[in-house]
Amino acid sequence: MNGNGVWRRTHDNGSLRPHDVGREVTLMGWVHARRDLGGLVFIDLRDREGVTQVVANPQESDSAAAAAAQVRSEYVIAVRGVVAARPAGTENPKLATGAVEVRARELRVLNPSETPPFSIADDGPVDEAVRLKYRYLDLRRPSMLHRLRLRHRAAKAIRDFLSAEGFLEVETPMLIKSTPEGARDFLVPSRLQAGKFYVLPQSPQLFKQILMVAGVERYFQIVRCFRDEDLRADRQPEFTQVDIEMSFVDRDDVLSLGERMIASVVRETLGRDVALPLPQLTYAEAMARYGTDKPDLRFGMEIHDCSATFRGSQFQIFAQALAAGGVVCGIRVPGAAGYSRREIQELEALAKAAGAAGLVAAPLDPAGVRGPLAKHLSAATDRELRERCGAGAGDLLLFVAGPAPAASAALGRLRLDLVRLRPELRDRVGFDRARLSLVWVVEFPLFERAADGALGAVHHPFTAPLDEDLGALDTQPLSVRANSYDLVLNGVELGGGSIRIHRHDLQQRVFAALGISPGVARERFGFLLDAFQYGAPPHGGIALGFDRMVMLLAGDESIREVIAFPKTQSATDLMTGAPSEVDPAALEEAHIRVRLD
Ligand code: ASP
Repeated sequence: MNGNGVWRRTHDNGSLRPHDVGREVTLMGWVHARRDLGGLVFIDLRDREGVTQVVANPQESDSAAAAAAQVRSEYVIAVRGVVAARPAGTENPKLATGAVEVRARELRVLNPSETPPFSIADDGPVDEAVRLKYRYLDLRRPSMLHRLRLRHRAAKAIRDFLSAEGFLEVETPMLIKSTPEGARDFLVPSRLQAGKFYVLPQSPQLFKQILMVAGVERYFQIVRCFRDEDLRADRQPEFTQVDIEMSFVDRDDVLSLGERMIASVVRETLGRDVALPLPQLTYAEAMARYGTDKPDLRFGMEIHDCSATFRGSQFQIFAQALAAGGVVCGIRVPGAAGYSRREIQELEALAKAAGAAGLVAAPLDPAGVRGPLAKHLSAATDRELRERCGAGAGDLLLFVAGPAPAASAALGRLRLDLVRLRPELRDRVGFDRARLSLVWVVEFPLFERAADGALGAVHHPFTAPLDEDLGALDTQPLSVRANSYDLVLNGVELGGGSIRIHRHDLQQRVFAALGISPGVARERFGFLLDAFQYGAPPHGGIALGFDRMVMLLAGDESIREVIAFPKTQSATDLMTGAPSEVDPAALEEAHIRVRLD
């Protein structure tokens, strides 16, 4: 006890062991559970580090027992007492402290608690809206504290790794001019300059490039980014990114750095090794073999382009697709030849939902393909098809015919749905949910055509084209590949980056291809272009989504689980009530008039 009667905690609730028996201790924490056996009261006392059993026995201390009888779940209490071995047979092997208990001599209520809206001790499923409203209670649950710890350890591993690699952590401003990452900006009105706005950064992209011009050479930041997008389970309006930029490097340097960093995070958080170097797929390969630029490589079931086999086929659906310049793609579903008509119809519905015009199913028996396709196949094409897809008796082949990226994309979606919905397939395709399957996808197209026909940057307008494609920049821009890369983990894009354009003339050509006039370029990022006039080193970088990374390390399916105070799908903070209306005086000062029509 210190001078003013305030007790000092001697131990946390996860630390007492048999060798502490006989020790006088003071514990503090929350009442996790309480059992009253008619005067004899057992309290599970919890803090961040664990749970210790406290026993208040009227025969040992009347006052402690009387106080213990009053406490309820989540009261904050302090207990002074003596550590004792639990009577033989009452030890709790599930608790680290389960061999001992503290016999209370004195017990103080430091603060009572209302009855919580859900049990902290149970740690079972609770409606997410309730969890978010009472996030302080939700975070008290051991599983959530575990996530906060995991996040902390991941951040520390990143800082340690990058510091050892010579990176400097530099903060960049939050109130900035727009950075083009392709999302909508959050606006912040300027009070001092009427009618003007800052935006919140979608990423520190332009600042990190300017830091390279400034000679920092190796920059990183674990930084909050803001994008006003429609939200999904793995998106939040504000999210955290591990942002990296390096000078005098080429793509291999950035990939090597990125993968060694991830391996170090996995080692420090999960104690698991990641085999390096990571595999790489070009964007074109990923699209052809998995129908997506975020392939989940935890299992096979690759897509096969069977167009050559079906060229000249009498089978109308395929003949028409091929004649229209499309493709016929197939996947082999092992051991699924016996799927019923209804099951196939369900798969067809999934394929259609993923954009396919239809699905052709071809079960295989020892003699070859059966079903409607069979009569249109010669013995030679039947064999060729089986060889191409690696299929044999008992397998099912599923085909989608149509325009090139759409057909493989639909099969790519179906491939994921099959593993999700058909547990019996998982073993057959070697799916291991616990595996961490990392892959680089490289050489994305530099440009894409937007719905309105205009060219847009797939990554951002500062991404360098591949040298060997420079010749096509002005004539066939859509064929130009970017010197860019994405890191994909278990089918989720962890992040990406690129080698940047560092020369004025090339930047002008890319702006021209994007339809960004010199005037507009000057108005939007003149400061970057100016900086580039003063000796910009060759540079490149990457940004990885930190929330997603921690989500995958935790085995969660939503980034909300690993963010202390996340927002809902409608971008609301249920605990604070943000966004909310503000005082009219504040609007006045910010020169804002609100119109709700
Ligand atoms: N700024 C990019 C992003 O946020 C990443 C990068 O190019 O480094 O996606």
